[in-house]
Amino acid sequence: MKYVLVTGGVVSGLGKGVTASSIGLLLQACGLRVTSIKIDPYLNTDAGTMSPFEHGEVFVLDDGGEVDLDLGNYERFLDSTLTRDNNLTTGKIYQSVIDKERKGDYLGRTVQVVPHITDAIQEWIERVANVPVDGKEGPPDVCVIELGGTIGDIESMPFIEALGQFSYKVGPGNFCLVHVSLVPVLSVVGEQKTKPTQHSVRELRSLGLTPNILACRSTKALEENVKTKLSQFCHVPEENIVTLYDVPNIWHVPLLLRDQKAHGAILKELNLLGDLIPSAICSKAVEADVTEWTERTKIYDSLQDPVRIAMVGKYTGLTDSYLSVLKALLHASVACHKKLVVEWVAASDLEEITAHETPDVHKAAWDLLKGADGILVPGGFGDRGVQGKILATKYARENQVPFLGICLGMQLAVVEFARSILGYKDANSTEFEPETSSPCVIFMPEGSTTHMGGTMRLGSRRTHFQVPDCKTAKLYGNAKYVDERHRHRYEVNPDMIPEIENAGLSFVGKDGTGRRMEIVELQNHPYFVGVQFHPEFKSRPGKPSALFLGLIAAASGCLEAVLQGGKMNKVLINGMANGTAMGKFYQNGNVYSNGNGLHH
Ligand code: GLN
Repeated sequence: MKYVLVTGGVVSGLGKGVTASSIGLLLQACGLRVTSIKIDPYLNTDAGTMSPFEHGEVFVLDDGGEVDLDLGNYERFLDSTLTRDNNLTTGKIYQSVIDKERKGDYLGRTVQVVPHITDAIQEWIERVANVPVDGKEGPPDVCVIELGGTIGDIESMPFIEALGQFSYKVGPGNFCLVHVSLVPVLSVVGEQKTKPTQHSVRELRSLGLTPNILACRSTKALEENVKTKLSQFCHVPEENIVTLYDVPNIWHVPLLLRDQKAHGAILKELNLLGDLIPSAICSKAVEADVTEWTERTKIYDSLQDPVRIAMVGKYTGLTDSYLSVLKALLHASVACHKKLVVEWVAASDLEEITAHETPDVHKAAWDLLKGADGILVPGGFGDRGVQGKILATKYARENQVPFLGICLGMQLAVVEFARSILGYKDANSTEFEPETSSPCVIFMPEGSTTHMGGTMRLGSRRTHFQVPDCKTAKLYGNAKYVDERHRHRYEVNPDMIPEIENAGLSFVGKDGTGRRMEIVELQNHPYFVGVQFHPEFKSRPGKPSALFLGLIAAASGCLEAVLQGGKMNKVLINGMANGTAMGKFYQNGNVYSNGNGLHH
């Protein structure tokens, strides 16, 4: 097993996650089996209880793990399925050590950060790194470990110490440290400054870690003399210094690294060039095969024709709060050859004007909504903006605007329908109005009612299509069932289903018991779909989520073509290097079934 550790220096937010994912992608393109671990040095056990506004979205895995959004980047870039153990936090490590202490495993000894916490970290890394990925036999070849935070943070000290010991244990040739740093340009002198990087490398060394590769964030490519200087002062060979200069979008990052032969440098440090690996892998290793990725990036760059999607959310100030939804919209737009334009509509701005708002804000929000080709109401918790989301949903329903409601978005679509069509004026979710006389969304616990952490209906659950020729089943490639990821406590009240269905809102997907509603579709509407699950978590570049594809296609006026597999298939075939047509990406996907019981 070989390890690539990615650390960050100088400032946070340098894009370590994207760099680490891109390295993984390149190594994968060299024919290696790659897994990844994200270390978050915070005390929370997992990201589940953290505010998306502060920390970005909570990403959900198949196994129900609520993890850092970087794991989403890994899954998207590596097209793999990770587990909760791939996200290591201080909380998890301390919990495991304290549990052992209580059991008596350390009886008689003083339990300390060194060696007990540091040993536990190393054992965790080694165990998780060796878990086979994506049904492939045997352990992966390389594990990319990303250490969150910035070198020098007090919080990450035990991890740094553990990783220092670990690099010594696995030995040179098995461990490669990529340090992501910043080379700022001061506008006064216009010179690329190396000092911050020098300092952070010195700090890294003083903590017992030696960088093998420097990945320098800068606005432009590093000048040769700057590289020479960095090499001299940081003791890193010039050919191991790469620049991550500003690029139009993150799909360029793997290509940027490839162009600078970063994969070659990493493979060399890992002793994967030369006699140690079979020549087949070796020769491939030198030319990472990123043809399909490159083609897709070219398409992305060339898109002109806009598709406007109104995102009616609560956290419109921090786009990371809805990262996977944005990515899923992007994947679908690229597949439809449309340039995605996201119009952020703060749900509360759509509501009746309140004292603290000006009429301008209200009007601007409605103008944005009305100017959109499609409307998306994402998931959420808490009642802020709920009424605004209901108004946006009503607008989409009444004006035939393509609509996708996710989780809370789906629940509110049902509430809106019950209010407007069934005439239940106080219809609501018991999450917002526990005493409502028309509870159309209720609490149906799979877990606890009293604890907030890890008690939701979480992770992959199966949805069975009830009507074979509904739009969503067709979009999923005429699947009989589909496995998607969940994160919710409340659900559509099964007792109200017959009444709602009689009025035209059909529950076309349900769980195995038939009691939990998973997909709603409105009849006589171009595309009005609500899902209890979060399809965004399984969307990939080149394999867009079926339901997002439906939304973008409907918003671009080509849904019929997609459903019939005609024109859109051609577009996709022409667009993708390897012909990632609908049929093909369904075959590639690991969640869809064609009804013969086989999971492709
Ligand atoms: N708050 C809702 C629930 O718990 C929806 C959750 C979500 O959108 N992820 O069911």
